[in-house]
Amino acid sequence: MNDTNFGLLKATLETKLATIATGSDKRADIVIQQSADDLDQTQFATERDLTVSLLNRDSQMSRRVKGALRRMEDGTYGTCLACEEPISVKRLQAVPWAELCIHCQERSDRAAAGAPGAGHAEGVELGVRWEQFPAQEKVSENGGADRM
Ligand SMILES: [Zn+2]
Repeated sequence: MNDTNFGLLKATLETKLATIATGSDKRADIVIQQSADDLDQTQFATERDLTVSLLNRDSQMSRRVKGALRRMEDGTYGTCLACEEPISVKRLQAVPWAELCIHCQERSDRAAAGAPGAGHAEGVELGVRWEQFPAQEKVSENGGADRM
C-alpha cells in the first residue's frame, strides 16, 4: 500500500470515529419517557430498544475503527487477521476497518449465517465479530487448498 492510500484511509477512519462519537452524544440526550398508558409504554419500550441497539452498533463500530487505527500504529493494518494475507486496497477503501480479507470475510459470513442463534442485527456492513470466527477454520501452514 502506498502512503497516499494509507493517509486517506487513516483520515477516513478518524472521520468515522468522530462521526460515531458525535452521534452517540446526541442519542445520550434522549430522555426515556414514562407514561401510565400501556400502549404508550409499549411504544416507548420499542423506541428505547431501538436506541439501545443503535448505541450497541455504534460502540461495536467504534471498537472496530479504533482497532484499525491501532493496527495502523503497529504496522499490521491491511493484513487479514485470519490468514495473514494482505487485504486488497480496493476492499480497504470500501471498508477501511476491515479485519479480514474478502475470502475470510465470506467464509465468516457463511459460518455466521449457518450458526444457530447468530444475530442478524449487525448487518452486512459490520460483518462478523472476530470472536465468532471459528478458530478451526483458520488456514494453517498446510492449508490454503480450501481457498481455491
Ligand atoms: Zn484472510
